[in-house]
Amino acid sequence: MDQRILIVDDEKIIINILRGALQSDYLIQATKNSDKALEIVAESPPDLILLDINMPGMNGYEVCQKLKSSEQTSDIPIIFITAASEIADQVKGFEMGAVDYITKPIIPAIVKIRVQIHLKMKKQQDILANLATIDGLTQIPNRRRFDDVFEREWKRGQRNGKTLSLILMDIDHFKKFNDNYGHQAGDDCLIKVAAALTSACRRGTDLLARYGGEEFVSILPDTDSEEAVKIAGLMRKKLELMNITHEFSSTADFVTISQGIVSIVPSKQLTINQVIEMSDSGLYEAKKSGRNKAIVKTFD
Ligand code: GH3
Ligand code: MG
Ligand code: MG
Repeated sequence: MDQRILIVDDEKIIINILRGALQSDYLIQATKNSDKALEIVAESPPDLILLDINMPGMNGYEVCQKLKSSEQTSDIPIIFITAASEIADQVKGFEMGAVDYITKPIIPAIVKIRVQIHLKMKKQQDILANLATIDGLTQIPNRRRFDDVFEREWKRGQRNGKTLSLILMDIDHFKKFNDNYGHQAGDDCLIKVAAALTSACRRGTDLLARYGGEEFVSILPDTDSEEAVKIAGLMRKKLELMNITHEFSSTADFVTISQGIVSIVPSKQLTINQVIEMSDSGLYEAKKSGRNKAIVKTFD
């Protein structure tokens, strides 16, 4: 019972029938009010919505339109619940993005099967979406996920005016590691580095992603440069504790990383790319000035 269904219908009797048909297999939430329904979805998106069309206030079509127009909620499958007299409108509902219809009077056995079909598809869709954002080797978020999260956090920062920090990092002397220990050992090293760096990100909103080859990146929302420097230090400390032997590094006898940090209040005057370039120049300076360290860059 890990999938959640939201039932939205102004008739208590319909809610009760649907609940009765589904509650043994799924977690059920129900509301008679369409505004309340949007609140519930915003708070925590369900896996499926059963949505009545004819309701006082905002009707089902309007609720559907609102959900489909927001990126956060557009993927939630919606099944319309409709009276026989509204069957002529079914095309309209499908065009608005609904996945199916259930007509009144409600036949519980049919509802069960239709819901089961759509929730199975939703589960597969979630698995695929998740796969597409996870790096196959290290099992941490990939570049695509980083791009999405950075864009979202950049916009959020523009609204709330809070400082966001970015740490771009790169393993030191990794070519020598590969050349001497082999590509497989290099892969194992990447997995360990990813785990060490991830363990230093403590907040749920922090993201640590594989940026490419042997480069990693961290987005730290609501984090100023002082805190970012501490977290970057903790990352290097965690890596040191992993103690991955690297006899061919001129920096240390274990695997180390260099980091470029930028802390900034997101604004419309700057682009995401400029911020990445700035952190990259910090990384470059860290490499040039001895490696196994962080360099903070600012825009002035
Ligand atoms: P620096 O300290 O200046 O960063 O030097 P470096 O040797 O780490 O940097 P360079 O860019 O010369 O080499 C990076 C190496 O990372 C070369 C490449 O083969 C290796 N690499 C990139 N991706 C992977 C991967 O997925 N697996 C393995 N095993 N190696 C990788
Ligand atoms: Mg590199
Ligand atoms: Mg490197």
